[in-house]
Amino acid sequence: MAIESINPATGKLIRSFDALTPEAIREKIALAAEAFRTYPAVPLDHRALCMRKLAAILEQETDDLAAIITFEMGKPLHAARQEVLKCATACRYYADNAARILAPESIPTENHSYVRWDPLGIILAVMPWNFPFWQVFRFLAPALMAGNTALLKHASNVPQCALAIESLVRRAGFPRGTFQTLLIEARQVESVLADERIAAVTVTGSEPAGRAVAAQAGWLIKKSVLELGGSDPFIVMPSADLDLAVETAVKARCVNSGQSCIAAKRFLVHDSIYETFESRFVAGMEAIRVGDPTKDTTDIGPLATAKIVEELEAQVKAATRAGARILTGGERMLGDGNYFEPTVLTNIPRTSPVYREELFGPVAMLFRVQSLDEAIAIANDTPFGLSASAWTRDPAEQQRLVSELQCGAVFLNAMVASDPRLPFGGIKHSGYGRELSAAGMREFLNAKTIVIA
Ligand code: NAP
Repeated sequence: MAIESINPATGKLIRSFDALTPEAIREKIALAAEAFRTYPAVPLDHRALCMRKLAAILEQETDDLAAIITFEMGKPLHAARQEVLKCATACRYYADNAARILAPESIPTENHSYVRWDPLGIILAVMPWNFPFWQVFRFLAPALMAGNTALLKHASNVPQCALAIESLVRRAGFPRGTFQTLLIEARQVESVLADERIAAVTVTGSEPAGRAVAAQAGWLIKKSVLELGGSDPFIVMPSADLDLAVETAVKARCVNSGQSCIAAKRFLVHDSIYETFESRFVAGMEAIRVGDPTKDTTDIGPLATAKIVEELEAQVKAATRAGARILTGGERMLGDGNYFEPTVLTNIPRTSPVYREELFGPVAMLFRVQSLDEAIAIANDTPFGLSASAWTRDPAEQQRLVSELQCGAVFLNAMVASDPRLPFGGIKHSGYGRELSAAGMREFLNAKTIVIA
């Protein structure tokens, strides 16, 4: 993919960038390695000071940064502002909590023994465009607080976000070389990861990207973390607060214009409330305002690229060919920009490809279920295992959902959302490892056992 900023609302090219040459990449890796020689010795208090400064800049420059996001990947400005502010919360969380997470852990044995947490080195981050700031910050805040240095290969359609983040980190006072953006194409990742100075890699993106990078990392015996796709279930049982469940269902499907790994994508609704849910949910999807992302009244902007619209359209067409029924929407919208109608599909045959695929846009799949057993069975009948939202006030049902859903997070009577204080990640084809919280920080640390006789 060419490295280009294209405004998804108009299709106009804003700016294009040449990919770095192999020589330029080597220089940046050398700088990151040089930084790692001294950075781990920078006192934690000083790293925390820089991290708080980074949070402050994000808060001071929210509007300008949000505009970069909106003009590169199309999310409404108000959502882009929230994203920038959320990055500041991650910076503050790790500034406040790194000392606790990194404190040596004493372990009673017959000797003096403990675990200390050492940084690994240069971490390569391969990141997607959908939350072009948040995805990067939830990696960089723990990585830099832990004493690692980092190189970012961002998605090719958000180069200005990538450069802006590099500049923010520098302005926050982090030493030169601790965090650098590599403007490179996907095919150049292999040579970067192969460099012996790179210690580990984290990938947030699609299954094919995760598979390719993790296969190489495995061969090289380098640590990897994968945050991949999801097709999260949203289960609604008869005891649920239906008004809130419907309102949240629409929000959960349309978050980030539907382009979120943890967006609810499959709605599994109990037969006894199905008709009511279906009509209100369809009405809710029809009320979503699609349009100019710079307007405060817009709920859904254009999708990030023309290719995403094409893929979504092809998936919806394949679904209907296989027998699925469209309750609303189903088409790309005419005119400039990558707009797609909020869509609800039902009667989706279990043999159709879309049943097992991720729909990365505002398209919901609705299923009628006869029992909690059936809801759990369908919820788990997917290659993915990222997270789940389930709505019931019945304690016995809650207990079963919590223990039987196969995924990285279960939210009861709430929409799934990431939070710096909570581990985030999936199982099955959604990936492995965790981001955020202490668990996320420890992914790129060496748990070094010390025994003193
Ligand atoms: P993508 O095509 O996999 O791109 C993600 C990143 O990987 C980009 O930087 C891309 O670079 C790079 N990449 C692609 N193929 C690669 C390869 N073979 N080797 C090395 N790097 C490669 O994903 P996307 O379509 O942009 O993003 C949407 C996907 O990300 C969805 O599946 C979504 O669910 C997932 N996602 C997961 C999470 C999570 O936390 N679990 C969060 C957000 C998104 P180029 O742009 O240059 O191709």
